[in-house]
Amino acid sequence: MAGNADDSRGVRSAQLLKGQKALVTGANSGIGLATAVALGRAGADVVVNYVAGAGEAEDVVRRIEGFGVRAYAHEADVSDEDQVSAMVARMVEEFGTIDVMVANAGLQRDAALTEMTLAEWQKVIDVNLTGQFLCAREAAKEFLRRGVVEEVSRSAGKIVCMSSVHQIVPWAGHVNYASSKGGVGMLMQTLAQELAPHRIRVNAVAPGAIRTPINRDAWSTPEAEADLLRLIPYGRVGNPDDVADAVVALASDLLDYVVGTTLYVDGGMTLFPGFATGG
Ligand code: NAD
Repeated sequence: MAGNADDSRGVRSAQLLKGQKALVTGANSGIGLATAVALGRAGADVVVNYVAGAGEAEDVVRRIEGFGVRAYAHEADVSDEDQVSAMVARMVEEFGTIDVMVANAGLQRDAALTEMTLAEWQKVIDVNLTGQFLCAREAAKEFLRRGVVEEVSRSAGKIVCMSSVHQIVPWAGHVNYASSKGGVGMLMQTLAQELAPHRIRVNAVAPGAIRTPINRDAWSTPEAEADLLRLIPYGRVGNPDDVADAVVALASDLLDYVVGTTLYVDGGMTLFPGFATGG
């Protein structure tokens, strides 16, 4: 049962984020859902952003409230400037401030280069890259306004960008997606450099292959999964909780001296396993 799993994982992450306020974009599915739940389990109040699927978002809210913290769902398209600023403004009104921004929302629109439309290119860049810029910018404004509150956290705020192994691994047939994640890597490093003097920490988590709806085709049949496992030295496909725990750690004071880093959560995918026997 989900409740039991939540309880056992809580032993590891209890109270790491007690009293902090977190926002997770795209939090009604996959990695974002698991991350929102993990942040709540760790003691944070959580805003559950979604763009479609209000029912799923409300389910996530109820799960988080089960940890005795506050949560609410907020519909907003992360690629829309006005909607993102309204979302963060409401959070400051309802929760008083924001301590953790998890810019997770993302999508794929796959096509070979010569088949890819400008709309497919633009949609992925808008959501995956511009969306992270907008969310980071609005969170940073509040971090800078408020500054460090020692009893809450050693830093003035944390931004965690959801990247991908495709931040560094080229991916034929997915040029829009790979370009967006390559961009997220440089967005994260540049913001980390710019904001660190203000005691704001910006980092990225880069998942490998995680079992979520975004990549169902890659793991939903035994043949597809066997094919995928050839790319994963650790021998298993990842779960959303693998990524969620990494986000909690990066957002917490446990990793207070980690600034501008990409944490790969990929079972060794970026070790280029094809070279284990070749090269
Ligand atoms: P998912 O499809 O389950 O979740 C994506 C979420 O983003 C959904 O809730 C979706 O509604 C939301 N979203 C899409 N467009 C949005 C918009 N305009 N505004 C707000 N929300 C929007 O997929 P996932 O695997 O959980 O993906 C989450 C993140 O992890 C993405 O950034 C993805 O690129 C990244 N990632 C996933 C994997 C993987 O193997 N699953 C690997 C590397 C990186």
